[in-house]
Amino acid sequence: MDSFFKRFNLTKQEYEKIRKVNKVYPLKITNHYANLIKEKGDPLWKQSIPDIEELNDLTNEEDPLFEENYTPVPLVVHRYPDRVLLLVSNKCAMYCRFCTRKRKVGKLLEITQAQIINAIQYIREHKEIRDVIVSGGDPLMLKDDEIEFILQNLRKIEHVELIRIGTRVPCTLPSRVTKKLCNMLSKYKPLFMNLHFEHPSEISPESKQACEMLADAGIPLGNQCVLLKGVNDNPEIIKSLFHKLLMMRVKPYYIYQADQVKGTEHFRTSVQVGLKIMEQLYGHTSGISIPQYVIDTVGCGKIPILPSFQQYINDNKIILRNFEGKIVEYENPNNKEKIQESTDESNFRIAVIFNLKRDAEVDKPEDWYAEFDDITIPNAIKSSLAKNGYQVELLEADENIFEKLKKGNYNFAFNIAEGMNGTSRESQIPAILDMLKIPYNGSGVLTQAITLDKRRKKELLLYHGINTPKFQLFKTTYQKLNPELQFPLIVKPNFEGSSKGIRNNSIVSNEEELRKMVKFVINNYKQAALVEELLEGREFTVSLIGNNPKVLPIVEVTFDYLPEHIQKIDSYEVKWFWDNPNNTTNPIVCPAKISKDLENKIKRVAVRTFKALECADFCRIDLRLDNRGIPNVLDVNALPGLIPDPKENSRFPKACYADGMTYDDIINTIFNEAMKRYGITRPSNNIKNNLSTTPDILRA
Ligand SMILES: *Cc1c(COP(=O)(O)O)cnc(C)c1O
Ligand code: SF4
Repeated sequence: MDSFFKRFNLTKQEYEKIRKVNKVYPLKITNHYANLIKEKGDPLWKQSIPDIEELNDLTNEEDPLFEENYTPVPLVVHRYPDRVLLLVSNKCAMYCRFCTRKRKVGKLLEITQAQIINAIQYIREHKEIRDVIVSGGDPLMLKDDEIEFILQNLRKIEHVELIRIGTRVPCTLPSRVTKKLCNMLSKYKPLFMNLHFEHPSEISPESKQACEMLADAGIPLGNQCVLLKGVNDNPEIIKSLFHKLLMMRVKPYYIYQADQVKGTEHFRTSVQVGLKIMEQLYGHTSGISIPQYVIDTVGCGKIPILPSFQQYINDNKIILRNFEGKIVEYENPNNKEKIQESTDESNFRIAVIFNLKRDAEVDKPEDWYAEFDDITIPNAIKSSLAKNGYQVELLEADENIFEKLKKGNYNFAFNIAEGMNGTSRESQIPAILDMLKIPYNGSGVLTQAITLDKRRKKELLLYHGINTPKFQLFKTTYQKLNPELQFPLIVKPNFEGSSKGIRNNSIVSNEEELRKMVKFVINNYKQAALVEELLEGREFTVSLIGNNPKVLPIVEVTFDYLPEHIQKIDSYEVKWFWDNPNNTTNPIVCPAKISKDLENKIKRVAVRTFKALECADFCRIDLRLDNRGIPNVLDVNALPGLIPDPKENSRFPKACYADGMTYDDIINTIFNEAMKRYGITRPSNNIKNNLSTTPDILRA
């Protein structure tokens, strides 16, 4: 070693620094590699001789990829479904300063044969493993018979198809590649080898000979190199390296973006540099000399990064850029037709989209997530749709829903999501689905937005001559009360459903109470309050299904059983009272006990409301009789709850059950009706209520 340093006229300080680093990260270099170094600090020097910068890296981790987390038994890294790393050696011919396993290589931890046997046993027991990458350290640092022991045992495992060896020996110690080694290796085909050349100056006549011997032994050779600052972070160097590799039958396989390994920060280049290098390869030189440029990410494995040749894509076309910057268009076959022609049910992909119910945060009212669904509901919908042989997946409508839908390649979305944030939240998912051209069930964007806005909904109903209680919107607590309104009044949040924000004291009989409740709504629900006259008559809920809608048996909501101090409205307290197991009265009467005349009146109003609001597929309408016995529309729910359990008193399913439908019938009728609207013919089988309606295209 001393003679080596003499050759480069090292100063005493330089020598001391090297010694200091050597104590933490050992120095080891082969004569072969040392002889290839031309001068102090050249690319080969940088890869092999300690640099004081290694000790100045205070940010990086020893094991940034958390390989240890994917180590089920010692020596095995099982990160991908069908392949594993088998780390059989801690030794290398030379210790590369940039090594990803710097924490391990060169340390005196002995790997025992027992550990190797145990690791191979793991592979034997995991039938999904079809590819074993024998790595280390450097496996070729083992003796021939040790290597053969490993290969022999791996080959005995039927499900192991490929064996790969990762080694830097042909670069750093080519004399290790002997005729005897090659003969032995050639017995264990298909055997691939990935080599590790970083710079064209590493390619010596000896390395060339070693690679040719391996290639002649029938071992396909690949190369993985790491982008290293000051070593090879330059398109010309990389291109020259790859051309030289091909001349000795080594195919460039990967260019790695450097990992964030402790002690190697000074080697890291920016990803832009890597992309620039890739730009200079694609199209400019043989495809066979172009590897994949990858980042080995924390927890997510290797991810390829490409220069952006793909500029834009939609169902009709893709716009591309070539290596010279020329823009060109390629026509896509029409996807929509494909959806309709395909008849294999298992290729029909449906996403069930929902918001999951959770406990309200401490700063929110307890009914904050009242509209969201329990996981049993999407699960039940999935199971009903899957009975037709479709592929059904559950998708939570969180902030990533757009990406999930875009990637998922769905033919249909069964949407029950209430959306998040804002006063038009129920239209968020329909809007996204429209944008992605994914057919879906239920009302469209505008209807969902209007039905969530109580004031606009009532304005629209009045325009169509449908009765609804007199009302006024309060945007502030101090707004003047319209003298036409008669107490008692009821105060509700303007943009909510599921009785959210309706409490026992929401009924007010004087201005003081009114102001108090308006304030409660504005402060707690951060929205305007709708104030409307309270009707004294009976209350009904009407469910409609289909697009020439069928009115299902009418539900009457009774309040007679409630104690004196509880107001007779659908409030949060009343719902809580129902859920009380001590309550034996059933407040839901279905079908309602009413005269034929009243039934017809209610049905007529319900259908007119459905059509006026341009609802689709299904909807639920709440009505109350005024003092003249005329049905007034209180609320329209374009996305009624679909709780399967009959005990839960979910009103839409309840009405369907009263009509003899099963839960499967409900879901599949809604699905079929939506499909008809879109003109897609894939009806589901075996449903009782297959409505024979003419498709009523409500949405273009
Ligand atoms: C790189 C790597 C592999 C092999 O990946 P390929 O892309 O198939 O070459 C396997 N396991 C782990 C943990 C890896 O890092
Ligand atoms: S040969 Fe590979 S494992 Fe060994 S030191 Fe170099 S990079 Fe690390």
